[in-house]
Amino acid sequence: MLQPLPVEGLADYHCHCDYSVDAEGTLEEYCRAALKRNLAEICFTTHFDANPDARGSAEYICVKGERKPVSADSLVPYVDHVRRVGEKFYREGLSVKLGLEVGWFPGCESMVAKLKDRFDFDYLLCGIHELDDICFCCRHSYRECFQRYTAEKTVEKYFEYVWIAARSGLFDCIAHLNYYLRSGLDYYGESMSTLHRPFMEETFRLLVAGDTGLEINTSALRHGLRDYYPQIEVINAAKKAGVDVSRLGSDAHRPEQVGFDFEAALALATNSIRSCDG
Ligand SMILES: [Zn+2]
Ligand SMILES: [Zn+2]
Repeated sequence: MLQPLPVEGLADYHCHCDYSVDAEGTLEEYCRAALKRNLAEICFTTHFDANPDARGSAEYICVKGERKPVSADSLVPYVDHVRRVGEKFYREGLSVKLGLEVGWFPGCESMVAKLKDRFDFDYLLCGIHELDDICFCCRHSYRECFQRYTAEKTVEKYFEYVWIAARSGLFDCIAHLNYYLRSGLDYYGESMSTLHRPFMEETFRLLVAGDTGLEINTSALRHGLRDYYPQIEVINAAKKAGVDVSRLGSDAHRPEQVGFDFEAALALATNSIRSCDG
């Protein structure tokens, strides 16, 4: 049962819908859920996973329940639909934004630039889900991905990708930083949870330089983790370093997950650290 949030004006900047193969619920159902949650804005970020070398996963976009191979053309119905829904729900007091979660892979830059030229996206999320072409978050493939590296190497490779993505300046925001924890904590053990620390300073520097934000992604709690993606210590340090951490994302894959745990996450997205510093 969706409860209204106690504050007005919040936005959920990471929502999937039934155009994503792993999500359910129509755009309209998500908008109605957003209104029930008292949100002012919702941004749809369907998956766009187009790595030609990805192993073990065929990537599609769902259009009216039918799977179409991922391409710019197969995005057209999604883009048109989000804009139509936006016109409808604007009259009901909900702002609807057009976004995309691009599955990042080495060399994706020209593809991303072309997508940005063709479509008038409000928001482009960079989702890093693979290392060397194997997904580290899917249940069926994370072992195959991780078995190739030590925990330290996994984290090092991950940040190599984050840095390239930040330097590209193509994305508005990095989605779910430290997402390797989703399966990595089970696979490698608890010690993995601090391995990001040596990479933070340079990550923040590149995000600020490239005007790229860092998402506060609450889905980690649904995945059984104790903290968000990234961890609260990272969010607070990023804020101190001047990184934009104003975007909350539930990574909803069902309408009832819209605005998930925003009651608590809200406190992080505001300037609490800055005001403490005076
Ligand atoms: Zn993602
Ligand atoms: Zn997502």
